[in-house]
This record gives sequence, structure tokens and C-alpha cells, in this order.
Amino acid sequence: MLTFYLIGVLLTYLIFLHTQKHHSLSVSKILFFMGIIFPPVSIALYIFIFLANKKRSKATKNQKVLFSPLPKKQYKAVLLLFLSVIVFLGNCFYSVQPHLYNDVKIIPLSIINSSRGFVYNDNGNSDAAIEEIKQSGESEVDIHFIDVGQGDSIFITDGNKKVLVDAGTQNAGNEVVDYIQNLGVGKIHLVVATHPHADHIGGLGHVFNNFQVKKVWDSGQSHTSATYQSYLQSIEENNIDFLIVDAGHKKELGNYSLKVLGPNQDEDLEGLNNNSIVAKLKHGEITALLTGDVEKEGENALLQSERCLNSDILKVGHHGSRTSTTKEFLKKVNPSVAVIQVGEKNRYGHPHEETLEKLMLKDIDIYRNDIHGNILITSDGAKYSTQLGS
Ligand SMILES: [Zn+2]
Repeated sequence: MLTFYLIGVLLTYLIFLHTQKHHSLSVSKILFFMGIIFPPVSIALYIFIFLANKKRSKATKNQKVLFSPLPKKQYKAVLLLFLSVIVFLGNCFYSVQPHLYNDVKIIPLSIINSSRGFVYNDNGNSDAAIEEIKQSGESEVDIHFIDVGQGDSIFITDGNKKVLVDAGTQNAGNEVVDYIQNLGVGKIHLVVATHPHADHIGGLGHVFNNFQVKKVWDSGQSHTSATYQSYLQSIEENNIDFLIVDAGHKKELGNYSLKVLGPNQDEDLEGLNNNSIVAKLKHGEITALLTGDVEKEGENALLQSERCLNSDILKVGHHGSRTSTTKEFLKKVNPSVAVIQVGEKNRYGHPHEETLEKLMLKDIDIYRNDIHGNILITSDGAKYSTQLGS
């Protein structure tokens, strides 16, 4: 596009040389300066004047009617070209790059930038600018591990696309709704129900009734419990798209993506936990593995699938139970941070000592909802930071 701009400026200069022979120098100057900023306008105006002139000259047999000619002043033309080069170079060096402000992509010097190749959409943003922001990793993704007591609930947002993975028990439903509403959110693009146990889907009914939810990912496992029945009913009542996902399914969500690693719907693993949806979040270079309540058998299936498990952040499976997080699985994931979603003094004794030891032996930072409250991990695509008790 820069080439088009330079061709435009060159054309404008040629127009200047031509118009100054026939028209007043001030008209030539105006056309020329407009051409430096936005060549198409200058060229269009010149064509308009040229056609108007031609029409008149036919009637009057005089080519120089519209604007009276001035003597040719070549030195002024050279001076104007020199000035235009300075203006253009100054614009290149000093124009501010597109950036994010309150989640809106700001493109300064819009007229000048538009002449240099940015194409605008209705929001005033450009595809080129959004691509630049993506490449620079300027945007942030927040991963909230909400303290719902004994249960899971993870809210992910890049300020635009929002995902909720589980919503704790039915009692925690209102807490989850309040937490997300306090972030100023009204619409959730995707809800992931990892598996039909009450400490994961119990609060989802509140979520469906309070937010505009676009889609639900389901593990395909059914349950006879009243909680599961009301979860299904709530999806139907709120007219939400329902999709049973299979390993390999991937969704791009603005600046980040979510890929399903399990379950494989062709495999028949034992128990609801092992068939939990396991999803890998990717934002630039930063990755997080969300494992639901997957246990040893499910972890082995993931190892055998040879999908890339390596992740910076691990949501520890099944609230830190000794039935999950095998040595082999931990070795393959190789996380720097482990988050355990667990309630204080829960009746299962989660997290189990064996799991904590395995994590500590590998020098992994451990964050727990029962100790730290709400846990927020923010990724900028290259590194991440943690905020506790938010
Ligand atoms: Zn659970």
C-alpha cells in the first residue's frame, strides 16, 4: 500500500507541474498539499477541474478560462516537493502506532494512515491494525479462578471474547454471577461444562438465566441427577446452542484460542471424571491446561493421544485428589504454575498430600482457592502475572 501512496504523491506532483502552467499557483498548491495527505482526493479534484475546463474551452475556444495562468515558477515546484518529502518522512517517523485503549483499537492520524494502507471497518478499527496488535501481543487475557468453595469455576476474557468453564455448585451460582457481573460483563460467548457433576455444573443455571450465553460445550456424558436435568432444561429454556465436543475441536476467541484435548468420543473411559472436557488455552506464547476432574485413566489417554500437553499453567485435575496428576502426566505438562480449585475443610481431604508433594518436588508455584481466595492470572502473550485475593 505504501507503493500506491508514493505513486499517488508522484502523480500529484505531476498534476502540480501541469496545473501551475494553466491555473493559478494557489490552486496548484492546494491540490498538491491535499495530494500529500490523501492523493486520491487531489487526483479526483484535478480530474474534475480538467473536465470543467474542457467543457468551457469547447464553448469559448479558450483553454485558460477557469483559472488565469501565472508565469511558470519551477523553483517553487522544487521547494514544494522538498517540503512534501519532509512532511511524509515526519509522518512515517512520528505517527503513533495503533494501540489498545479500553479495548478499542486506536489508530492515530487516521487520515494520513488511511492513505497509507489501513482499511477501516464500522468500528473505526482496521484489519491491518488488529493484525499488528495480535502480532505485538499487546492485548491481555485474564484467567480468573473463582473461589467457589469445593468446585471449579474459571472465567476467561480478553476484554472482548468471554468464556466460562464450570460454575461450581448450585449454591455458588449467585457468587459466580456476581463476580462476572462486577467485571462489567453481560454476554458470555462460550460456556464449557467439563462434566455433569454438581460441583461443576450446579451453578450454570444461574449463569444461563443472568447472561446472554451463546454456546455450551458439553462432554457428552449424561447423569440421572436433578442438577443435570435442570442444567439441560435451562439450556433449552434460554435457547442456547449445545455442542458435544470431541478431542481436536478448536475455537478461536479473539486474541486467544481454546482447543479440546479430551475426551475422545470414540473411547469409552470409566466414570464421568475421566471423560471431563480437557481444554488447552493459548494466548501468544502462554498456555494453560484446564483439566476438569480428569483422573489417572483420563490422563493416560491424553498421554497416549500424543497431543501437545506442555503448558505454563495447570489447573490441577479433580481438586488435587491423589487419583489425578500422575508423575508421567506432570512431566509431560511441565507447568510453572499449578492452580488447585478446592474448598476450605472439604470432606474429601482435597488437595491430597501426595499431589502437593509431586508439585513441590518440581518447584511448581501452587495457588489454591481455599488459601488464596480468587486467583487471577493475566497473560500478555509473552509472560504472565498473578494476583491473589481479588
Ligand atoms: Zn469436581
